[in-house]
Amino acid sequence: MGNNACSHPFLPGNNVRRNSPLCLHNIANVLSELRDSVVAPRIDCLLDSVIHRVNVRGGSEEETRIGGAVEPSESDGNLYGFIYGDRYVECLMANVTVRHDLLKVLVTGGAGFIGSHLVDRFMKENHVVTVVDNLSNGSLSNIESWLDNERFKFIEGDLKDPQKTKKAAEDAELVFHLAANPEVRVGETDPHIHFEENLVATFNLLEALKRQRSAKAIVFTSTSTVYGEATLLPTPEDYGPSIPISTYGATKLGCEALIEAYAHTFDLRGLVLRLANIVGPRGTTGVVKDFVKKLRRNPKRLEILGDGSQKKSYLYIDDLIDAIYLTANEFLSCNDRIKVYNVGSPDSVTVARIAEIVAEEMSLSDVDFVFTGGVNGGRGWRGDVKTMLLSTKKLLKQGWRPRYRSEEAVRLTAEKLVDRLDL
Ligand code: NAD
Repeated sequence: MGNNACSHPFLPGNNVRRNSPLCLHNIANVLSELRDSVVAPRIDCLLDSVIHRVNVRGGSEEETRIGGAVEPSESDGNLYGFIYGDRYVECLMANVTVRHDLLKVLVTGGAGFIGSHLVDRFMKENHVVTVVDNLSNGSLSNIESWLDNERFKFIEGDLKDPQKTKKAAEDAELVFHLAANPEVRVGETDPHIHFEENLVATFNLLEALKRQRSAKAIVFTSTSTVYGEATLLPTPEDYGPSIPISTYGATKLGCEALIEAYAHTFDLRGLVLRLANIVGPRGTTGVVKDFVKKLRRNPKRLEILGDGSQKKSYLYIDDLIDAIYLTANEFLSCNDRIKVYNVGSPDSVTVARIAEIVAEEMSLSDVDFVFTGGVNGGRGWRGDVKTMLLSTKKLLKQGWRPRYRSEEAVRLTAEKLVDRLDL
């Protein structure tokens, strides 16, 4: 499978443009790639929508079809040619629309920060999307634009409840598992929360999926914290041993292991994405939001947890969604049982610099930055990894290119948060 977005199984319909030279290439790609892909049975649906009249070169013009019947009179008269199998085919097409129900997608935690952006992407690409979320940290306002859409279903439910989980997973073809408690600091006060929300919830989901025939793959949003304090930076996917220093990192690593074990024991496939710090609108936690809130309360003084030298990679949400979309497409078109990718920006930024950027974006000068000094050598809290940078060579090879570096991602997020009054 190539890297061209149009050659992917998700088939973004709006990439197929009428009267564009690219169109010929796209359709040829789409058809030839589809024949062997997981959505091959749906090739007829695609052809239904694009082909009105087929003319096989060298033969007589046939008012025929490869897919379903469409009246030639509906055609707008645009002629396209492409290679299909070993034949050169010309066809007349009307407005090109790719069928809606290409994939039934389940997004757990889809009302949260990352989940709701992923939902936006899949809904805009015309898929059928179900969200299950217990709204413990997410909000209906994040997905409100889709609530009345017939391709969208919201289930208010908790993955800790096996029955609800089973119901939500019914018919799902591709599962994005994002529901979790992502707050590292919770581990200091109540490790039980990570055990329940991350491990138990993932176990219940895997139990629901293990004999579910429609499920093609589970995509899991893991985290850079599974590496613990890696001695190799940027840290590649095959770095080891992984020694997490937080219960968050430990339980996410446990979730990865469960997914891997289920993939090998049952007929499941798993894509694991280890994310750096993700920033952007709708973010529920994180340092940028924390600083904006604090500076709103007191524009003269900003308390910074730790010694300010914590240095990590920050990735803008749009770049992440592109990466998820790309890797999921690629994963669906390969046969690997398990695949792991790091997802992060190419560089890192210190907490002290983030404080300056946020102050600049709020047009504040003379802010007194007060460092708490932190614990265990300047960390913000116990379990906080001080330095993080992921190697993304593997992902870059797939054609992914992030638009923003860490500082730009932070600045863009601060800029968008500053305008929000509801923080
Ligand atoms: P978020 O809290 O905004 O989203 C998580 C969603 O899951 C929330 O809507 C919450 O209500 C829901 N949820 C929690 N427990 C649930 C349960 N038991 N049943 C059903 N729903 C439940 O967090 P996010 O930042 O969007 O993170 C999404 C995923 O990405 C998480 O798995 C997180 O571990 C991972 N991740 C996030 C980051 C980041 O920087 N945001 C970095 C690395 C990994």
